[in-house]
Amino acid sequence: MYDLVIVGAGPAGLAASAYAIRKNLGFLTVATALGGKALYRVSIPGTTEHRVLRADQLLTDFRRELEYLNERYCIGTADRISYHDQVYTLHVRIGGDTRQIQSRMVLIATGTRVRKLGVPGESEFGGRGLGYSALSYSHLLSDRDVFLYGDSQRSVDSALEVALHARSVVLVLEQMGRYHEIYREKLRGAENVTLLENHTIQAFHGDNYCHSVTLKEHDGKTEQINADAFFLELRPTPNSELVAELVETDESGHIVIDTRNRTSAAGIFAAGDVTSTGFEQSLIAVGEGANALLSAYERLMWAV
Ligand SMILES: Cc1cc2nc3c(=O)[nH]c(=O)nc-3n(C[C@H](O)[C@H](O)[C@H](O)COP(=O)(O)OP(=O)(O)OC[C@H]3O[C@@H](n4cnc5c(N)ncnc54)[C@H](O)[C@@H]3O)c2cc1C
Repeated sequence: MYDLVIVGAGPAGLAASAYAIRKNLGFLTVATALGGKALYRVSIPGTTEHRVLRADQLLTDFRRELEYLNERYCIGTADRISYHDQVYTLHVRIGGDTRQIQSRMVLIATGTRVRKLGVPGESEFGGRGLGYSALSYSHLLSDRDVFLYGDSQRSVDSALEVALHARSVVLVLEQMGRYHEIYREKLRGAENVTLLENHTIQAFHGDNYCHSVTLKEHDGKTEQINADAFFLELRPTPNSELVAELVETDESGHIVIDTRNRTSAAGIFAAGDVTSTGFEQSLIAVGEGANALLSAYERLMWAV
């Protein structure tokens, strides 16, 4: 039996693993893939990448350490976690088999997933002028024309943030029920933001980079919009299903944590985008991973 199983190996899970190595814990990291969303990049023509804040070097070092100790990680997908007699049992799919792994504690660092629109050009231009995280790049967008598509408050906040830098922002907003009017009001004062409603995306176009998008209105009319950068700012879904019946989650499914990354269940910790912290940034995920691991260590050593 392990002291701790860390589920996920993005920035949060890798930082937790690095601390677990240093604390000499009996741990195993289980992840569908090593690296997580920190591997994603968006190139915007004419911008310099070094101005984007990431934890690249640190994460490469953490990952190498884990890969070197190959008995400390396993590539697989955790499907279920059950709890009995102070022991957590993880059901992990590895290839075609399911393995049961037992542990005293669990650290959930499974991140979030984002809905794909499934339109032509979305995959082709993903990372080449078309991205999913405008907030990380807004400061690079001075005097540019930017296109955003969204479905939530996150999309509205991103449009307002990007509008502080960009020449113009076109925001296509999906209907958001009772919140729609509040968000529309928020955008009203932003002079360089054009809000389009009742439009759907037909396709993205470009060459090396995405340069334009075709929109369709409800009456069937189409129009093409050119821009320097495109972002799909869709509401992310936390990968918290694994522990949804064991821990408290908020209304959007994010795991509620305290200041030490403890969840409502004794022995379950959570870190990174899957938590209710709210800022989806690599450096925050790294910090939360370290915090969660030190809390787990404290519990193991001193039963607090
Ligand atoms: C396009 C894009 C660009 C971004 N740019 C930046 C940037 O410039 N700067 C910045 O700070 N942030 C950026 N972000 C945000 C940043 O990538 C995330 O905040 C960060 O990766 C979150 O780390 P995490 O460890 O919580 O989750 P993730 O990175 O999502 O990692 C989740 C891990 O969990 C694993 N996993 C999930 N479910 C299971 C399961 N059931 N079983 C086993 N393993 C599982 C995955 O394989 C992965 O290893 C960007 C995000 C995107 C999408």
